[in-house]
Amino acid sequence: MTADPQTWDVIVIGAGPAGLFAARALSGKLSVLVLEEKARTGGAGAMTDGKLNLSPHIGLDLSELQLSEEEASERIARIDEVFLEHGADRTLYGVDAERIALWLDRVSWVRRRTHRGEWDITLLPARQRHMGTDLAHQVVARMTEAVAGNGATFSLRTKVDDIHQRGNGPFIVRTAKGQYLSRYLVAAPGREGAYWFREVARSLGVPTQYGAIDIGCRVEVALPVYDEITQVLYDPKFLFVTPTHGDRTRTFCTNPGGRVRVEIRNGSRLVNGDALKKRKTPNTNFAILNTVSMTEPIQDTTEMGRKVMEFANFWGGGDSLVVQRWGDLTEGRRSKAETFHSAALGYDKMPPTLPPGPGVTPGDISFAYPGRIVDNLRESLLLLSRVIPGVAHPSTTIYVPEIKFYDTKYRTDRHLETNVPNLFVAGDGVGKSRGIVGAALNGMLAAEGILRKEGKG
Ligand SMILES: Cc1cc2nc3c(=O)[nH]c(=O)nc-3n(C[C@H](O)[C@H](O)[C@H](O)COP(=O)(O)OP(=O)(O)OC[C@H]3O[C@@H](n4cnc5c(N)ncnc54)[C@H](O)[C@@H]3O)c2cc1C
Repeated sequence: MTADPQTWDVIVIGAGPAGLFAARALSGKLSVLVLEEKARTGGAGAMTDGKLNLSPHIGLDLSELQLSEEEASERIARIDEVFLEHGADRTLYGVDAERIALWLDRVSWVRRRTHRGEWDITLLPARQRHMGTDLAHQVVARMTEAVAGNGATFSLRTKVDDIHQRGNGPFIVRTAKGQYLSRYLVAAPGREGAYWFREVARSLGVPTQYGAIDIGCRVEVALPVYDEITQVLYDPKFLFVTPTHGDRTRTFCTNPGGRVRVEIRNGSRLVNGDALKKRKTPNTNFAILNTVSMTEPIQDTTEMGRKVMEFANFWGGGDSLVVQRWGDLTEGRRSKAETFHSAALGYDKMPPTLPPGPGVTPGDISFAYPGRIVDNLRESLLLLSRVIPGVAHPSTTIYVPEIKFYDTKYRTDRHLETNVPNLFVAGDGVGKSRGIVGAALNGMLAAEGILRKEGKG
């Protein structure tokens, strides 16, 4: 290990699941410094809802990671073990083969071929755990303690401002607290730090590309509507090919008994959702996401996502989410505060967990969002209602904007090393994962790459 306290073998930027799992695998073998902007570790998801999707087909892209299904599954099993060791709930969803078969059968009876020959609705079963926003805090705190106990140093409230490299020398990492040197760098800045790091990466000579972006809405229904499936598959993954445009959408981040939440991003409001382990609401929420790629005349999906987010907030009155009852959307009228809970319209059946109020404006999603995306979201909900009819009840509530900014792509080797030797990237912020387990797997891959280079793999 290196002796100079300001010079490290490895600096990890970001203590989300990607950074934590990289630090975990490296600690005790190399000197590791984790720099985290926030006052705590866990990043975005590990400190929020903590649904662990234990499938190699969810939250990561095997071809992007150049991994076989077996290689990914083996690492996912190890990640699961780590979460369990640190106190994650042992309840496993998605293992009741008989009930899953019934759901697959139900889908097979209602799905149709699109004009391109694809199924318009598919259910992708997966094994899942749920930590819950409340329990995830404790799990992450224990994990951090263990990694620190194994020799890694965490510097919280330490935002990395800049990174330089002179020739092939060490990386020079600048923060307001001082400057650190490292031989290796693992950049795991998450979606929040994605665009900051993209600029830094470009300045270091790493080329980046625009990838697809996920733009969608959050749907809230009464718990009994969705309960039958979430008891078997906690976060059911339905994939859709929409009839009119042939676009791909999917359900994402289901929270049975959960809450719809506001996420602030660069001063704008996005919608999201979570669920507590110990306290349940009478509702369930989930996202429907539409994957959007762009070719000509512009490829900049980041800028597109930002504009969609800002326009939706503008349509909400300046800095607000837009919320609409499904009954109003299908009737072609805006939602209004006066009728939002109308018994005559059936809206009293489901009081939303994020009702209209400051920052949440009843309105019309078809004005707030691009037309093609609104078509896709409406058609997806209608496809879903073939399998779960209650989702198309008039009281169902739709919130926008929900946007996942993991749209920057980096070319790397299979250990996530970029074209700049010793610079590794990992997690959602660099387009290599879309969830806690996928991000953790990225962290492991980067650590494996570093240990191999050190002859310790
Ligand atoms: C409300 C919500 C609920 C979610 N629920 C789930 C779920 O149930 N299941 C699931 O699989 N996924 C969920 N996710 C997604 C999940 O959080 C992410 O996929 C995952 O956290 C990505 O991990 P990461 O390590 O790549 O990035 P992050 O977790 O975002 O961590 C990146 C870290 O880097 C830090 N950072 C950024 N820039 C800098 C800098 N310049 N200097 C220092 N530090 C920096 C950030 O502060 C952050 O802590 C949820 C996300 C949200 C927002």
